[in-house]
Amino acid sequence: MSTLLLYLALTLRLVTVPAYCPKECCCGRWADGLFASNQGAQGRAVASSTYPFGTRMFIPGYGEVEVKDRGPNVVEVFFESHQDALEWGVKQLVVRIDYAGRTKIKRAG
Ligand SMILES: [Zn+2]
Repeated sequence: MSTLLLYLALTLRLVTVPAYCPKECCCGRWADGLFASNQGAQGRAVASSTYPFGTRMFIPGYGEVEVKDRGPNVVEVFFESHQDALEWGVKQLVVRIDYAGRTKIKRAG
């Protein structure tokens, strides 16, 4: 396998990307204003069931972003507004993993 193909195989992943907001409508009892990484729930971020905190990825239509939260999906994008999360909907996207974080995700609850 060529280096280029190996690189693409290691960094590109087709995933279903839903969206969520920090309020009770999406987070239920976890709606405490913080991501699972204890950072404030604002700006742009990804929740992941799979990738550790600190993993950086590029999501088409969303941008270069870091895993700061955990959730039931491999990749789920964060919006401060529930309306924005609704407008994103659920997309099938090829996501590029740029940097694999090292912090293990701790499951709570
Ligand atoms: Zn919501």
